[in-house]
Amino acid sequence: MSVALPPRPKVLMVSSMPEWDLAPMRAAYDLVELPAGGPGTLATATDITALVTSGGRGANAALIDALPALELIAVYGVGYDKVDLQAASRRNVAVTNTPDVLTADVAEMALALTLSLTRRIVDGDAFVRSGAWPGKAMPLTGSVSGSKVGIVGLGRIGEAIGRRFASFETEIGYWNRSPKPSSSWRAFPTLASLAAWADILVVAVAGGSDTLGLVDAPTIAALGREGLLINISRGTTIDEAALITALESGSIAGAGLDVFLGEPTIDPRFFRLGNVVLSPHQGSATIATRKAMGALVRSNLAAHFSGEALPSAILQRHR
Ligand code: NAP
Repeated sequence: MSVALPPRPKVLMVSSMPEWDLAPMRAAYDLVELPAGGPGTLATATDITALVTSGGRGANAALIDALPALELIAVYGVGYDKVDLQAASRRNVAVTNTPDVLTADVAEMALALTLSLTRRIVDGDAFVRSGAWPGKAMPLTGSVSGSKVGIVGLGRIGEAIGRRFASFETEIGYWNRSPKPSSSWRAFPTLASLAAWADILVVAVAGGSDTLGLVDAPTIAALGREGLLINISRGTTIDEAALITALESGSIAGAGLDVFLGEPTIDPRFFRLGNVVLSPHQGSATIATRKAMGALVRSNLAAHFSGEALPSAILQRHR
């Protein structure tokens, strides 16, 4: 006698994941790709109970409302600024993300961008490859050691950035929305005062409408002609037009950027600037971290479908 198996949960894949995640997910769920025409063209929309998305894609109200059986949004990333939490809450949909497992690598990227800028690693590589080295020496560079490093947003990643910079014999200061009594680093009352003090300003604050243009033209100006700006948070947290103007005029020395407005199609004026290091949103993009992020997405899905507590919930579902 054959026993009818219960139908497997249908999970909508809004963004792609590596095959090492897709294979175990296919074994447990019916994975459905979001069609190019959007959720309205999805024949199985009424059966989908979970969706997996990236921080970059998120899930807006239109998508959430197009899936009447949706119970869980699992974000493959820590930033959830593109998930409409109000719509999710209204629809009683849980939301999870992948904190902690990516912290070290994103902090490492902040250091890598800073070192690339100060020691001109990218320029040095081009200099050697051009064959110019036997004819002349490359210009002298700055260094990180002894600098004053200002961190904007002392969350998980901001703290990890501070710990790494501390080993470079730097002074660390920070500005954070809420007090951080456990931190021994110097707290600044305003972002502008932090920028005026810092040689290197590193932005690690969450994205979203509340932090839109947080690092504004006066903050960039306060950083000064020798100042460097590093951004591993979101393109939205910096007034990008003001940054480009400052870089073009030399009113700050340079910028190391992993995130941009409108990425992956970024403002072409960046390409003409010699005082920037540009990275295609690679902060968490290491094999080990992506495997850990994928595992956490799968743990959240498994916990949800077995009725257990979600390992990393931003928003809980009321059952
Ligand atoms: P986290 O621990 O939640 O820290 C978030 C930080 O942002 C905290 O300092 C928090 O201040 C601050 N913040 C949140 N909302 C704010 C607001 N409205 N105004 C001012 N400050 C606000 O997050 P995390 O794990 O460190 O991640 C930080 C961000 O890094 C993510 O949100 C994401 O955008 C970005 N990220 C980038 C990459 C990449 O590949 N480049 C990868 C992962 C993450 P409080 O302490 O007051 O809450």
